[in-house]
Amino acid sequence: MDEDKLYLGIDYGGNGVKMGLVDGYGNLSSSRTRPTANLTDADECRAFATEILDFIHDMGIYTSELGGVGLAIPGIVEDGFLTPNVNTDWPLLIESIVRTLSVPSIAVLNDANAAALGELWMGAGENKHSVLLVTIGSGIGSGLVVDGRIVSGVHGAAGEIGHMTVVPDGRPCSCGRRGCLERYASARGLVQSFNEAADELGLFPEQLGPFAPVSETDAQTVFLAAKEGDPRALYATEIMADKLGFALAQAACVVDPGIILLGGGISASADQFFDELHEAFRKYSFPACRDIEIRPATLGDTEGVVGAARHAMVCAEQDRVASYADDYL
Ligand SMILES: [Zn+2]
Repeated sequence: MDEDKLYLGIDYGGNGVKMGLVDGYGNLSSSRTRPTANLTDADECRAFATEILDFIHDMGIYTSELGGVGLAIPGIVEDGFLTPNVNTDWPLLIESIVRTLSVPSIAVLNDANAAALGELWMGAGENKHSVLLVTIGSGIGSGLVVDGRIVSGVHGAAGEIGHMTVVPDGRPCSCGRRGCLERYASARGLVQSFNEAADELGLFPEQLGPFAPVSETDAQTVFLAAKEGDPRALYATEIMADKLGFALAQAACVVDPGIILLGGGISASADQFFDELHEAFRKYSFPACRDIEIRPATLGDTEGVVGAARHAMVCAEQDRVASYADDYL
């Protein structure tokens, strides 16, 4: 592995695109963020690739000094690209970046797996061989690295913990089924539980606090209300912790990871539900898995860039394009 090279990581998220230069030891030396855009024709893709080139040049680097380029995308990368939240022509974009940067290839991976890889390399999963990173925002995604290898599954659906059934015949989900974890433990699920709590608990109006989420994903107001003892918010956080603990315990039975990390917007409020989450996890866990550590992720919004760079580094070392059987240890 060439530690003296710099590796370019690009994290193409639904809410922003982050690019960064990472050295062979995992240090992120510089990064830049731009808004996400749908890149559907050659001119748009070329313009984006030129932005990347400008970023590299602004950092005083020549593309010939790059050891590799990694691209994390928000969706499935298996026999083609499936990214329901971003309408971008990925093959065209990849071709534009390859041509503009004059690099031999780009190592592509799923963004949740990139985040898990970043945490495994430089974050809270350091020195662990297996990590399950669950990202909780408006939805729930997860990245899975087992024995140093990204696990994406035959259909690219491994780690889709957000769509694990936690309440049979429960709330309808965007995937077409009912009772999925993300309907209860995402920001959206938390707000829904808050809004349904008065009826569920049979509360009288005088028992309700003054709090009202301003949107369907306004978890912050619910957490603020929970701090003030609002019964609806306490009910919502209890459901969130219980369902998440249940799902993590089931995942642990299959994967038995060295550590479980929580990332995404809600993880910043982890202290609001961690005690209940640990309690639920232990309650539902197979005895051998009960003591698996659960912690917030530590790299924040740079984990995808660092993970994409790591993927590029490993692929470059093995002199080939992206694969899902990579050994990252
Ligand atoms: Zn679902």
